[in-house]
Amino acid sequence: MSCAVMAAHLRCWCDYAWADAIRYGNCALRAYVCRMTLTIPFDNSYIRLPDTFYARQAPVPVRAPRMVAFNDELAQLLRITPGEVEEMTQAFAGNTVPDGAQPLAQLYSGHQFGNYNPQLGDGRAVLLGETVGTDGIRRDIQLKGSGPTPFSRQGDGRAWLGPVLREYVVSEAMHALGIPTTRALAAVETGEIVLREGPMPGAVLTRVAQSHLRVGTFQVFAARGQLDNLRRLTDYAIERHYPQAVGPMGLLRVVRDAQARLIAQWMSVGFIHGVMNTDNCSIAGETIDYGPCAFMDSYHPNTVYSSIDRMGRYAYSNQPEIAVWNLAQLATALIQQVEDKEAAVEEATEIVHAMPELMQAHWLERFRAKIGLVTQEEGDLQMISDLLTRMAQNGADFTNTFRALGTDRARDQFTDPAAFDQWAEGWQARLQREEVPAEVMKAANPAFIPRNHRIEQMIQAAVQGEYAPFHRLNDVFSQPYADQPGAADLMRPPTQDEVVHATFCGT
Ligand code: AMP
Ligand code: MG
Repeated sequence: MSCAVMAAHLRCWCDYAWADAIRYGNCALRAYVCRMTLTIPFDNSYIRLPDTFYARQAPVPVRAPRMVAFNDELAQLLRITPGEVEEMTQAFAGNTVPDGAQPLAQLYSGHQFGNYNPQLGDGRAVLLGETVGTDGIRRDIQLKGSGPTPFSRQGDGRAWLGPVLREYVVSEAMHALGIPTTRALAAVETGEIVLREGPMPGAVLTRVAQSHLRVGTFQVFAARGQLDNLRRLTDYAIERHYPQAVGPMGLLRVVRDAQARLIAQWMSVGFIHGVMNTDNCSIAGETIDYGPCAFMDSYHPNTVYSSIDRMGRYAYSNQPEIAVWNLAQLATALIQQVEDKEAAVEEATEIVHAMPELMQAHWLERFRAKIGLVTQEEGDLQMISDLLTRMAQNGADFTNTFRALGTDRARDQFTDPAAFDQWAEGWQARLQREEVPAEVMKAANPAFIPRNHRIEQMIQAAVQGEYAPFHRLNDVFSQPYADQPGAADLMRPPTQDEVVHATFCGT
């Protein structure tokens, strides 16, 4: 990476020296005059849980790490003081363990595609520790792709560059879209080869999450009948995420609320997670694990991208139902610790059964905004559904159709523009009763989403050592609701040749 590019990603308070380094294009100069030391104010809580919860595991060093990206804005939020490029590179590759870190691999289990797998766990990740950010929120700092752990099973514990860059770009884009998500602090190339479909360049992602507690973290202790651990975990989750919640059923209720809101947000931007296994379902209500995820281009409810989702279990329109299924698994696990099972089952049933309606309410709120409605009327659901049906029948691009509503470009998205015109008649009449539809719509309909073909092109370039597309995507997606005339190419759906038909897990 050039010094200039690095400059955009690494902050240094020796402004004068830094400016020189850029001017002379000489990173060595910066290293000579600028002597900041990487400082991460760790404050670790997970390690104080019983040692059955994790295995202590240091990251395994790599041969020749090279810094690809560092998220300066996120570092500030985490109260991290960046250091020398070389020092940061070694730390975020896992070659050195920063002061205060207590690396560990977390234990969990989970249902994968509906089948219970009794032991999963961090097979290619280590939690370095936690920091409390400037916003008062505690977050995990985790290296992903950092080598084998006791939970690696047959895996090599590594990640290749493609999924690391995909997760970096997409998770940061989700954040900018205003959707709860894990985030990306750094990406480092390892200088080593990992074997996937062929030899691929290895990489490590530094992931930041409000926690890595999953439905599967509860399931593992419930399945093993370790009720003390289950109670400890429940207390920990409540204290860390939902101090207002009381008891296991109180926790179930707030996790339901967070998940219901999250899934409605995914639906509203055409996001398909792709692998909604219970080990990928976050208790904090964040989007986690950007394996085979994708944003839809042309709208169809049955859209599936994941190469391993052959039955379409995690198709776009199935996501709400799967979220309920996952919550039912959490309920089943949580109930184990309650003395009065009958009462708990009754309460849990009520909580889980209320989830679809809750999701529907969030969904309706989001989609009302997408078509410019603030007030609520009986026929709104029907109007939105009608538009979606027509979009599906006419191959309309999900993002561009909504973004173009209110302009004459919306009808161009439809193979039969008359299908849109017919709908728009009723819609225009409905809009008469709204005050500021255009503003509402703009804030609810992003212009920019990380389209799959652009992600694939970005990865192909990076594999060739060309990182300009990666940086550009991060740049443009950081303001997804703004008009950016210079980035019109990133609004364009894929051509026939560019369409990505399948996405692959990050393994
Ligand atoms: P995921 O599909 O990313 O949710 O991962 C499912 C499980 O497989 C988790 O326990 C991962 O830690 C594990 N896993 C995925 N990839 C690897 C790998 N390359 N090496 C070891 N374990 C892995
Ligand atoms: Mg996972």
